Amino acid sequence: MSPLIIALDVAHRQELERLLAALDPGVCRLKVGKELFTRLGPAVVESMHRRGFEVFLDLKFHDIPQTVAQAVRAAADLGVWMVNVHASGGRRMLEAAQEALATSAHRPHLIAVTVLTSLEDGDLQELGVRNSVQEQVMLLADLSLHCGLDGVVCSAQEAPLLAQRHPQSLRVTPGIRPAASTQDDQRRTLTPSQALQAGATHLVIGRPITRATDPAAALAEILAQLAA
Ligand code: C5P
Repeated sequence: MSPLIIALDVAHRQELERLLAALDPGVCRLKVGKELFTRLGPAVVESMHRRGFEVFLDLKFHDIPQTVAQAVRAAADLGVWMVNVHASGGRRMLEAAQEALATSAHRPHLIAVTVLTSLEDGDLQELGVRNSVQEQVMLLADLSLHCGLDGVVCSAQEAPLLAQRHPQSLRVTPGIRPAASTQDDQRRTLTPSQALQAGATHLVIGRPITRATDPAAALAEILAQLAA
């Protein structure tokens, strides 16, 4: 299996079906986010599983401990490969999520979002957080991993330090662009090979594949770059 997780940020079943038919569950996993899940529901995950795909359910749960524990348990019951929560929900929430999965028959990987990459130092200050983004990312990553989570979503900028501090952790990195593709709304992007060199363990990549005229060819091209 490759480190690629394809973000299927699409709104329509037809578009989804086109992509599912083009992608190969032997070489990539899929990410289901808030839009797709809210529009089409758990049936989407089930149809991906039927086709043999492993699924990262990217719903970024953030609530009181009991609610998040039940939500990650529901994700485990759906059979997903990975699920995530916001680290800023705090220690008790993180531990409750971890414990809910520990007793579940199927245990997905549980990872945490630290600081959204849309936030800058000034935004944190406005929220009453005195740390810089970098300091806050490390603080929340340390907390998450000490609570027994398996890893974090992180930018490629943060991956090297996280790999050093927590070598066993999963480091799931978006903002990936194959050399030739456009940046879309991502500001700082790395190629798949650069991101792995920086310490990412898994790469989330969406539009370069989902918006390609030939998604299978776009995926094959990225895999070829990784193998080179
Ligand atoms: O299309 P693109 O490759 O930019 O998609 C990246 C995916 O990763 C999207 O689903 C986006 O929501 C998600 N993501 C991101 N940046 C983050 C966290 C998640 O782009 N910091």
